Amino acid sequence: MRKPVPSVVGQRCLLVAALSLVSFGLLTSCTEPPPKGAAAEHAQPVQSFSQWRDTFRVQALAAGISPQTFDTAFEGVEPDESVITADRSQPEFTRPVWQYLESAVSPARVRNGQGQLLQNAEALQRIDGTYGVDREAVVAIWGMESNFGQQMGSKNVIRSLATLAYEGRRPDFGRDQLIAALQIIQHGDVPASNMVGSWAGAMGQTQFIPTTYNRHAVDFDGDGRRDIWGSSTDALASTANYLSTSGWQLGQGWGFEVRLPQGFDYALADMDIRKPISEWQRLGVQTATGNLPDNPQTSASLLLPAGYRGPAFLVTDNFRAILKYNNSTSYALAVGLLADGFKGDGQLVGNWPVEDTPLSRSERIELQQRLTARGQSLGTADGIIGANTRKAVRAYQQSLGEPADGYPTQALLKQLRATQ
Ligand code: CA
Repeated sequence: MRKPVPSVVGQRCLLVAALSLVSFGLLTSCTEPPPKGAAAEHAQPVQSFSQWRDTFRVQALAAGISPQTFDTAFEGVEPDESVITADRSQPEFTRPVWQYLESAVSPARVRNGQGQLLQNAEALQRIDGTYGVDREAVVAIWGMESNFGQQMGSKNVIRSLATLAYEGRRPDFGRDQLIAALQIIQHGDVPASNMVGSWAGAMGQTQFIPTTYNRHAVDFDGDGRRDIWGSSTDALASTANYLSTSGWQLGQGWGFEVRLPQGFDYALADMDIRKPISEWQRLGVQTATGNLPDNPQTSASLLLPAGYRGPAFLVTDNFRAILKYNNSTSYALAVGLLADGFKGDGQLVGNWPVEDTPLSRSERIELQQRLTARGQSLGTADGIIGANTRKAVRAYQQSLGEPADGYPTQALLKQLRATQ
């Protein structure tokens, strides 16, 4: 949930980086978070929290927040040190994609989701009809975000965001979200005391940050309040609305597992390369499971989440719609596989390279520094494997005559060390 200033591409990007769950460096092309290293070391705020609050109150009132809304929301609010700790955490070791998928797409979650699809069938039918989305994907996102409404986070959102605005790494982000949160309270959707979420301000069953809420949350059960905390119908409709706005096409699917022919050019596995499925088929790409979208003209990209030795997928524009919800390819893959799982599909044919130890954060930074030293332009070595790093890895692999999948491994880092 997902980078610093949430971009137009993905409002929930901040959270992607923030949640250790998905912070194993498989982010896509969303704006990447600022380096959390030395340059961003925490400086003690120069003003006290109450001084900051008084200054911020003037800004909030200028933005249309009433004195009463502000004062009620801020009653008794003090900084939350656990938010600061979470904001600064830089996990050295992160889970590989196969371990992430194993827990994200567990048999228990699949069964739970199937039950939820039945329980909420009536609401989902109306939601499908209104927003033109596939209900399995909506329920899969609900499962990923809050375990179907069971885990929304229990932190007071005003307190968390005030802490981030006062002394977080991205005070502007905190301020913008805080204003949006106050707007939500003022609108009467939820009292401040019930506005709970994650330490990063992701709220309710959909885990929307406040600006995302203001754009996409809807009242679908007709009580006049956009209640993503207490109403699963509102939460599901809000998610459907977000997916629909992000370009979801009903019935197109998110993608499917494929097999690649011998001698395939792995450099084609790049989210920036889109081809009609029929063209991928001409290149020898075959479905691994038999599930193909009806329309061979559907545009798709080739995804190798663990490099050329792992499973391969063709992913459609619906996959990109999921990425707008949360800009992590692993997350989007989990949503897709969960949605398939609800229909009894979703078993993978390909094997993950489970013997590989993923690069740690410091190894990823070292890799970026060594690629930069070889003349690749990467930007800041921040340990996050984004589009630029993958491009540089690809170029290096091509220079070695190795499969150019853009996927950094321990072996590749060793080679870099040996040649420098
Ligand atoms: Ca409602």
